Amino acid sequence: MKAYVALDIEATSPNPEEAEIVEIAVQDDGGEARRWYLSTRDPLRPEHPVFRLTGIPFAEYEREKLPPQRALQELLDFLDGRPLLGHNLLRYDLPVLQKALNLAGIEFPLRSMQALDTLRLAHMVFPVPPEGLSGYRLGDMHFYFTGKPIQDAHRAHADVEATWKILAGLVLEKLPDGLARAWRELGLSEGELFPETQGQVKELLATPALVEPVSYEGKRFPHPSALGADLLPSRRPAQEKMFGEVERALKEGRRTLLEAPTGTGKTKGYLYPVLHLGERTWVVTHTKVLQAQALEELKYVGKKGYEVKAALVKSPKDTLCPEALFELFLDARQEEDEEVRVATGMLLHYAALGHHDLEALPAYWHFSRGFREVRNRVGTNPRRCRVDCPFLHNCAYQRILDHRKEAQVLVANQAYLMTHFLGQEEVPGEDPESGTHLVLDEAHHLEDTATEALTLVLDHEELEHVINRLARADRGLLKDGRRLEELSLEEKNKAKEVVENLLPRLREALANYTTYFINFLKRRGSGDPRYGLTLELTDSWKRLEEWPRIDRGERALLSVLAELKEALKVLSQAERTLMARDLVPIREYLQRALDLLFERRKALGLLKGEPNSNLLHLSEWDPTTGSWRHLAQPIDVSQDLQTRLWPRFRSAVPQYTSKRGTTPLGWTCAHVDGQVPIGGGPHGTAYPTHQR
Ligand code: SF4
Repeated sequence: MKAYVALDIEATSPNPEEAEIVEIAVQDDGGEARRWYLSTRDPLRPEHPVFRLTGIPFAEYEREKLPPQRALQELLDFLDGRPLLGHNLLRYDLPVLQKALNLAGIEFPLRSMQALDTLRLAHMVFPVPPEGLSGYRLGDMHFYFTGKPIQDAHRAHADVEATWKILAGLVLEKLPDGLARAWRELGLSEGELFPETQGQVKELLATPALVEPVSYEGKRFPHPSALGADLLPSRRPAQEKMFGEVERALKEGRRTLLEAPTGTGKTKGYLYPVLHLGERTWVVTHTKVLQAQALEELKYVGKKGYEVKAALVKSPKDTLCPEALFELFLDARQEEDEEVRVATGMLLHYAALGHHDLEALPAYWHFSRGFREVRNRVGTNPRRCRVDCPFLHNCAYQRILDHRKEAQVLVANQAYLMTHFLGQEEVPGEDPESGTHLVLDEAHHLEDTATEALTLVLDHEELEHVINRLARADRGLLKDGRRLEELSLEEKNKAKEVVENLLPRLREALANYTTYFINFLKRRGSGDPRYGLTLELTDSWKRLEEWPRIDRGERALLSVLAELKEALKVLSQAERTLMARDLVPIREYLQRALDLLFERRKALGLLKGEPNSNLLHLSEWDPTTGSWRHLAQPIDVSQDLQTRLWPRFRSAVPQYTSKRGTTPLGWTCAHVDGQVPIGGGPHGTAYPTHQR
């Protein structure tokens, strides 16, 4: 291992842009340690939170503090060019240190130094936290490896010692065969910390995905009234009533809104009538916790000797595609952006462990620019699936499809339901399966999830990722030899034209629009700039001094996006080619972007045609990504639910806990806490009916 020097900084703020260094500690691999207190621009008072949070004695600090220039020069002398080690070094300590060096007038580009961040390493070694690891913070990691909390935690000297212990623990972890080599091929220094083992990346990715079927052979599930104490040790009146209401709705093809108080035992209340009926039913929850609860209940029933066939259904976009990841790996080896290479290295590990749910990754990754860049690229695009895919038999998507074919109960979340039954994307193989039953838990979230699914979004960062996916440096779909090989000469020329002419124009149009539009949002938007700004599109925009430039920029963007969409249409004509399979979702994405921009212009009376009065047009600026996005949000989703969701199902039983919801007219609305059911016939208005 390299001769690292562990470094830790205590500063006045957790925000690197605002932080001023108060204390620096270092310790090298031989155990030699140093510590400096640094004076700040304005002297600190004893009540400053940094003293309370770190435990630095104020009197000692006052006595020993040095001018930053002197302390930093001594630090650089101690480092003597040796590589740095730290926990969250890359996102906190190094930016804070670099800023301090600049302010002190010391010219020293820290990015030229080698650095190993144990936080990043921990996220790569443990893409899923193992049992006993409660988080990735220094204290959590230290406790995981040593079984003890850090003594003097938040003092810089204690934290550097802890960092060494964490590194020692991490490098002893066993990685799947071939992973360290793959990390090295990606140019990641983390790969050098582990012994090289045999194994190819393709083999890593052929690990069977952990997709657990809920499949039990056994007795037919009895009528809920005949259930024994094995499944229902005690009977509750509200639950009994729920059994009856759910059963009636399923058998008679009704739509019944159920309101059940806490403690009814709702999961059993809807699952048992479903299991007894034995017909294909979607059980849709709002949260993962409730999904897990429903699946646990189904397994419990199966283990008691009853027949249960169920499957968890997930969005393909959130399901890792090993073939797409393999292609990403091949590209990422030449990638300059280290964050992209790191995200690729972590995803290889995630896949090698059999994991596939991209949404389930720790939050750290969702804040990583590199991960966001590759996130959509490695999600499953069902159009790519084919019999000769080398990962066909082990990938999660195909396994989920297999289980789904057999299942009587399909467990999903509301976001999935809305996207695939109501959303704008058509996904081959994701047939909405009309005529099945639907039980929808936590229905009070329905309006929000429907609104989200029906909202058109044009996200600046996502559009940049799409452009990069098409062509970036010497890589990208339109430069890929294997894909180009399948095209005719005319199509190849078209691809060349897109790469050399259209994409540079699109990049320029997007950059111009972005610069101006972000300034506009920062000036006119409402909200706290630390968390994001929002601005509603109104007619008054046309009277603003900024409008002529925004208008010009938007027209330029529209025109080049439309050209690109048409060009991709030419390139994806031969449907069976790999190029077409990859380009069709991009073309659809561009179409949605154009629809949104056209709707905005119609709303301002700049284009012919009736504007959609059910749309609220918003623009947002996100400080974490630095990007803007336009949204066209439906104001009232009830029509869509009424005409496009409920008719897909033979019966529908949305149920919720709160008693404060509206009472949708025309639905059978049953209160299962002892009151008499109210409401009407089976085909009523959509729920919810109220306007936002
Ligand atoms: S079969 Fe489809 S989802 Fe599975 S690895 Fe191949 S392309 Fe990806």
